[in-house]
Amino acid sequence: MKRSYLDYAATTPVAPEVLDAMLPYFHDFPGNPSAIYAEGQQARQAVETARVSLARLINARPDEILFLSGGTEADNMALSGILNANGCGGSHIVTTAIEHHAVLETCYSLEKKGTSVTILPVDSQGLLDPLEVARAIRPDTSVVSVILANNEIGTVQRLPEISRITREKGVYLHTDAVQAVGRVPVDVQALGVDLLSISAHKLYGPKGIGALYVRKGTRISPILWGGGQERGKRSGTENVPGIVGLGKAAELAAASITSEVERLSKLRDRLIAGLLATVPETRLNGHPTQRLPNNANFSFDYVEGESVCLNLDLAGISASPGSACSSTSTAPSHVLLALGLPQHQAFGSLRLSLGRWTTGEDIERVLEVLPGIVARLRAMSPIWTRK
Ligand SMILES: *Cc1c(COP(=O)(O)O)cnc(C)c1O
Repeated sequence: MKRSYLDYAATTPVAPEVLDAMLPYFHDFPGNPSAIYAEGQQARQAVETARVSLARLINARPDEILFLSGGTEADNMALSGILNANGCGGSHIVTTAIEHHAVLETCYSLEKKGTSVTILPVDSQGLLDPLEVARAIRPDTSVVSVILANNEIGTVQRLPEISRITREKGVYLHTDAVQAVGRVPVDVQALGVDLLSISAHKLYGPKGIGALYVRKGTRISPILWGGGQERGKRSGTENVPGIVGLGKAAELAAASITSEVERLSKLRDRLIAGLLATVPETRLNGHPTQRLPNNANFSFDYVEGESVCLNLDLAGISASPGSACSSTSTAPSHVLLALGLPQHQAFGSLRLSLGRWTTGEDIERVLEVLPGIVARLRAMSPIWTRK
């Protein structure tokens, strides 16, 4: 039986076109981009071509793109790099309660070294009020970090309104755009951000490669030291096949984004309407309209998201409990708690995320099996039967 993969927010398969572009750079073109002979120059050219493709996708200049190991490193580099450049200790970061762990844990580690951190709340749909940002900025604030599109609930923030404030106050604005780049149009000029994190494996590229957009003129220090690659900002021999893959993925995204947004939004809306109509006591988490075209996140009262996922898995459907990210963690999702959900609803949540190979059949299959799974699990729940 063909499986329905509905966890594109966790990772995406490498597109065949991307794999084809990458393969020669493992053996046929083995050069180190820093080498001066022909092989080195071929590798250098491939890296620079990829930089142009990625820059084009987000309306940046090629020399504003730093390649690094992925979304996690990009988030670490953005925050630690800015803090280090501005003399760590005594400085202040403003961020939100619904950031990815890569941002939150970086903030906590900086906090231990003397940085002060303000974590802003969001409303019940996951939206940050730009006025909260204005109120939180202090004279010693170095950087504000706001996730563009949330990985769990899909809510998309109004970054242009936030950047108007950070610019007026003269502080840097970083956004974790890992879930957004390649899925919705992202334009660093329109957003007004200074730093933006990208990960290849969320847009049909390989794992272990990503990029940080750094607006020209931004004062930022490296967090890795060595041979001075990437204009001295990120040492380490370039992951040439990975970079080529990310470049190709960016090219493919640019060509398909408009039609994919439309196609996936329709599938997502069918999924949301179908589940809300057939499963009683269910809520959609996140913003009803201001959300990623590929994200649906639900809370089912009186059941555990984990149990729903295991049962879906048996039915050939891959999805994540809403509290996901790491299957080893048993804590409820910090994102769902930040929306004000009570613990039992945060535990009873499910994220379905769509992508390139998702079809109407996948959606119909979920609508066919999920209501029965939830009903069976509820029938076993002492809280449900007491009702
Ligand atoms: C996946 C993800 C990351 C981490 O990216 P990696 O390349 O896996 O390190 C960071 N932020 C968000 C929002 C993500 O979805």
